[in-house]
Amino acid sequence: TRLARLIAAMGPISVAHYMAECNATYYAARDPLGVSGDFITAPEISQMFGEMVGVWLADIWARAGRPTRVCFVELGAGRGTLTRDALWVMARFGLRPEVHLVETSRVLRDAQRELLGDVVWHDDPSTLPNDAALLVVGNEFLDALPVRQMVKTEGGWRERMVGLDGARLVPVAGDRPMDAAVPDAMRDAPLGAIVESCSAAVAVVDDLARRIAAQGGAALFFDYGYGDAQMGSSLQAVKAHRKVDPFVAAGTADLTALVDFGVLVEVAERSGARHLGTAAQGDWLQALGIGARAEALIAKAPEQAAEIAAALHRLTADEEMGSLFKVMGLAGVGWPDGAGFGL
Ligand code: SAH
Repeated sequence: TRLARLIAAMGPISVAHYMAECNATYYAARDPLGVSGDFITAPEISQMFGEMVGVWLADIWARAGRPTRVCFVELGAGRGTLTRDALWVMARFGLRPEVHLVETSRVLRDAQRELLGDVVWHDDPSTLPNDAALLVVGNEFLDALPVRQMVKTEGGWRERMVGLDGARLVPVAGDRPMDAAVPDAMRDAPLGAIVESCSAAVAVVDDLARRIAAQGGAALFFDYGYGDAQMGSSLQAVKAHRKVDPFVAAGTADLTALVDFGVLVEVAERSGARHLGTAAQGDWLQALGIGARAEALIAKAPEQAAEIAAALHRLTADEEMGSLFKVMGLAGVGWPDGAGFGL
């Protein structure tokens, strides 16, 4: 592969560089979502997910006094399904925002155009409008951003790299001392310990928190992650709905890492946004009324009752996506509390 040739010529590359290269290749070439793809996401499981996002955004916007210049922003919009379902509900509340999608994959931009018509696309958040309140959502976006890993060796902390063993890609320790890059509390960890961080996620949350603080607005980030700092590699590769070795599947599987919500909450607050809360996805969806929505859908289409009940279970049950997935809510100063965060 191209990466193996690069490593053979230049030497090992960092895990972060590896993850960035793999996902750029992976997303550029395919639509990975759905039964015939590699993985399925909440908005693809049921329209109810995007609808609850739309209800939440319309509600906070209404209680913020219905600002007129407002943009809806989705980060990493996949097929555009969440945006479609959220826009439909928001329109019923009289909220018809301009639509901006941050999306790097050309294949997925085409899918989004097909579903949503012409909206405004961005390669990264830096070009988003700076004269409007922003209603932001990201689902399984932060987990696709590259993580950096440090590993404890006999010689101290080193960056975890990807090198070659014959023709095989394998994790190796870098040769430069990296002790300064490891938080104090973790320095004394045992040999082989791994500490992970995601500066790309920090940069995105910092940028959006600053905008929301200055321009008004609110944001919801949904992802599989943790609240209290943890150690170990959370790098995971999924292909055809199965976990595969992240170092074998270069560019042909979806590479993700757990999101460190604890750090992102600190970053958002430091950047001037209000943290409305971080909840388990299941609790949040229940609080927003997904149960009643499921009943209404079943009443309208009784022949789909089993399918709708299964989707509800998948999105909310503890043993499914209900507690592993979290949602972090942010808002601008002077914006009201958000529904569903137990405030
Ligand atoms: N939110 C969608 C898709 C999740 S998959 C859903 O829930 O179904 C991750 C999405 O993020 C894809 O749309 C992918 O193309 C996009 N993405 C990944 N890395 C990105 C980056 N660095 N910048 C912008 N978009 C990115």
